Amino acid sequence: MKVLICDPISTSAVQRMRERGVEVTVDDTITPERLVEVIPAYHAVVVRSRTKIRKNVIDVAPNLKVIVRGGVGVDNIDQEYAQAKGIKVLNTPGASSDSVAELAVAYLFALARPIVQATESLRADKWEKAKFHGTEIQGKTLGIIGVGRIGLAVARRAAALGMHVLGYDSRTVGPVPFMMMVPLAELLARADYITLHIPLTESSHHMIDAAQIGKMRKGIKIIDCARGGVIDEDALYDAIVSGQVSGAALDVFENEPLTDSKLFSLPQIIGSPHMGASTAEATERIGDEVADILIGISVEGWV
Ligand code: NAD
Repeated sequence: MKVLICDPISTSAVQRMRERGVEVTVDDTITPERLVEVIPAYHAVVVRSRTKIRKNVIDVAPNLKVIVRGGVGVDNIDQEYAQAKGIKVLNTPGASSDSVAELAVAYLFALARPIVQATESLRADKWEKAKFHGTEIQGKTLGIIGVGRIGLAVARRAAALGMHVLGYDSRTVGPVPFMMMVPLAELLARADYITLHIPLTESSHHMIDAAQIGKMRKGIKIIDCARGGVIDEDALYDAIVSGQVSGAALDVFENEPLTDSKLFSLPQIIGSPHMGASTAEATERIGDEVADILIGISVEGWV
């Protein structure tokens, strides 16, 4: 079985697959143009969030039997089209949950205490102590939208920090440990912080828009470590300018890679380049699961 790895996974996973007879090519900086050129030779392809497997790639991949997404969201893959062509789409859903949850909690602290802005100020040779007055996390209310693997992992940590945790999920009404499940309107009205942990779907696209932001408490702080596109970025920008939102932390963006965005002209917005799952531990776990999947397929001999 010939496997093409298009995004970084652990070297130990690559080595284990090779030891088990899987023919692995690693090209984890491959361009879309190069991918279309080489994909015809492969039976399996491994991606994380960077590489996109769209219809144009699938159409020139006659030998492709499986697409493995190391991670959760499969929105970088034309899943239905692939499945219609008999190509399986598999993922490693739990492998990065704790890493993403920890990033969301890091952002909770960074919104409460402006450590990013304070560092920028120090780098500019300033000593602006009075400007960087913060608030405590404990005793505040966190609203979690999307109470799945990551939402629950955030709730467990936030409860341990002494926060009141409210949850809203379109599928689950409760009871759920560490939080009180409430209708969306109640969560928006009561939360001091809102963190998003839902997939990007047709129904969640721009779920947080100007109307929903208007229902939040004035001065709300918002964290998005889920997917760009779940928040209407223009509405968020306007709400920061008006003061309705006092801070936002974004790991994900509607158009990635993000270039030249007006969002980062606002000091109240901090962010990162979609690095929620970019930890040593998640990379190791993702690699292990990807290797297990592909060795299993190779052993079963269905490729
Ligand atoms: P999950 O499937 O375990 O949980 C998602 C939850 O959202 C489910 O309980 C579902 O019922 C709920 N949901 C779906 N649509 C909703 C809606 N419109 N309103 C309210 N609830 C809704 O997924 P997970 O493993 O917790 O991951 C959540 C998301 O995090 C993923 O979809 C992915 O996009 C994102 N993610 C981001 C990174 C990163 O690097 N920043 C890494 C991994 C995952």
